Amino acid sequence: MTELYRVENLRVDMQLPGGLIPFAKPPQLNILDGISFSLDAGETFGLVGESGSGKTTLARAMLGLVPATGTLRFRGAALEEASLRRDTAMMFQDPVASLSPRMQVGAAITEPYAIHRIPRAERTSAADLLARVGLPPALAGRYPHELSGGQARRVCAARALALNPALVIADEPTAGLDVSIQGDILNLMADLKRDRGIAFLIITHNLSVLRHPAVRVAVLYLGRLVETGPAAEVFARPLHPYTASLIASEPDPDPRRRRADLAIRGEIPGLLRRPSGCVFHTRCPLAEARCRSEAPILREIAPGRSLRCHLAGQEPTERTPT
Ligand code: SF4
Repeated sequence: MTELYRVENLRVDMQLPGGLIPFAKPPQLNILDGISFSLDAGETFGLVGESGSGKTTLARAMLGLVPATGTLRFRGAALEEASLRRDTAMMFQDPVASLSPRMQVGAAITEPYAIHRIPRAERTSAADLLARVGLPPALAGRYPHELSGGQARRVCAARALALNPALVIADEPTAGLDVSIQGDILNLMADLKRDRGIAFLIITHNLSVLRHPAVRVAVLYLGRLVETGPAAEVFARPLHPYTASLIASEPDPDPRRRRADLAIRGEIPGLLRRPSGCVFHTRCPLAEARCRSEAPILREIAPGRSLRCHLAGQEPTERTPT
């Protein structure tokens, strides 16, 4: 596989509004810290985390839209030298809000050509772009408010495809859609990956969205990756207590299979009140004294599989019979 995008030790800080002391440096809030992963060409990579985990900020940093430190390389080139604006596209969480209300669908999906001054001969017609996402050409004359939720997602996908990107970042691509339409959108993304070799980074709070499309997944909690690995392995044998609780809380038709012992407690603390030690300790059913004071590092426990926990993923120690 050819590596498409590499993120190494990414850190994003946000400046908070000035404090009470005049001329003092405004306080900084750390949003993301030590984020490292890579994405291959044509791969579907899933990034999961609750609201407030920093996942949308991570997507924006990868597109060069927020200042970040660390290494970001697209096709081996540093972000500022890469042809990122043409080769990447975003499918936004709220598709209707991301389209101009006064622009008809046909104009909206071909707008990237004008923005990037693409010669007419290299442009794809609105009808063809709509066909790529399974929509009829007649939709080109509609306005965003005239679209259903599923149609609006597809229109966003058509716009994202206009420049033949190598990578599409899809932020909550199924949020607010009926279950059957969710399946349609995920199938559309799978078709585009297969037919056009597009890599997808799917960002979601809903782990079950990633169960089928993702090849690899990364789990984000309060700005730190806590588990990464091949999707099939992580779903079959989640090791971090947070991942395990996310999987246990997925809707299951058989209520007897619910794992109450793995349920996470309470709400995710705000970034302003990021816990000391392990950031998950305030909600972790396995937390012990060490977790409150000592931050675990993200360690590779098998090729391609990493975990940030003092306890999980350790080989069971042999007990001496007493
Ligand atoms: Fe839970 Fe401790 Fe592991 Fe953190 S380090 S996930 S608190 S067991």
